[in-house]
Amino acid sequence: MMESKKTKKQLANPVKKEGRIVGIRRVKRDFRERNQAEEELMRSVEKNESLLIAIPDLMFRLDKNGVFLEFIPEKEFSSWKPSSKFLGKSVSEVLDKETAKQFMLCVKRAIETGETQILEYQLSLKGKSHHYESRLMADGKGDILVVVRNFTRQKQAERMAAIDPLTHAYNRRKFSELLDQEIKRVERNDRSFSMVMLDIDHFKKINDTHGHDAGDYVLKRMTKLVRENIRDIDILSRYGGEEFVIILPERNLKGAIAVAERIRKVIESACFDKVGQITISAGVSDFIQGDNRESVFKKADNALYIAKNGGRNRVSVH
Ligand code: GH3
Ligand code: MG
Ligand code: MG
Repeated sequence: MMESKKTKKQLANPVKKEGRIVGIRRVKRDFRERNQAEEELMRSVEKNESLLIAIPDLMFRLDKNGVFLEFIPEKEFSSWKPSSKFLGKSVSEVLDKETAKQFMLCVKRAIETGETQILEYQLSLKGKSHHYESRLMADGKGDILVVVRNFTRQKQAERMAAIDPLTHAYNRRKFSELLDQEIKRVERNDRSFSMVMLDIDHFKKINDTHGHDAGDYVLKRMTKLVRENIRDIDILSRYGGEEFVIILPERNLKGAIAVAERIRKVIESACFDKVGQITISAGVSDFIQGDNRESVFKKADNALYIAKNGGRNRVSVH
């Protein structure tokens, strides 16, 4: 205890106790400590810089008017113009009108609320659609730090997992997910929807007579014709080989029958290369109180069965 007290005192007055040379040693040690601290700081800065370079996200600073101030670090939008071309320009000069508007709204909100704003948008670059997510944070000095993530590949993968590669209609798995979503929506808002189940008549014969490729072509062309006769909000899916299901939000049974009948007529009067004329049968159902995913599907399936048994090339209701 005494020992350590003495040592502390000595350390507090090194020059007085032990002369000038000790004092110089102390100054030397100060330099050494400072050099060490500077080295550590440098190492930490270098580490952060490497980290920023390694992160695939693009980071830049905007002022409150949306003008590009700097890129951190200097990195490129791989599919766009060099980042230097952005400096001094505002987001409204480099983005399309609607995206720029959304961006500026986020800039404003980030400054006002101090909270990170997240914006998802698509940009068409060199004829290709790219998906981005931008996070905007106010930096306390009135500027905005933006972190941009390109998630085009992820979107493409999601799309591939949801789409039938031949017809580009939704696949059965996605259909199931979208049907559940639609049921939740109508139950929450006390609304309704209808369903149309379509099946190509004697498709096996088309394959047998004209070959599998001709069958594939019929599937593709037929899907296109169906899509041209439904709304963007309608959900078209390929449920099985030559069987398709359409969910028609906000359409009652009468409306859905009219849509199915229109599709039937369009397909009946179309001429398919090499194959000639084809027909389809359709079953229609509506989702009403007390229905669930199985019952609305079963009603459409039963209706399709009635249409087939009734002689095909017709629309039936459950
Ligand atoms: P129905 O009028 O009763 O519906 O008779 P159908 O011949 O259309 O029905 P069936 O179920 O007997 O035959 C369906 C055929 O669809 C059999 C199958 O080989 C064919 N098919 C299923 N998927 C594809 C596909 O992706 N491409 C082609 N070309 N044919 C397919
Ligand atoms: Mg069939
Ligand atoms: Mg079938």
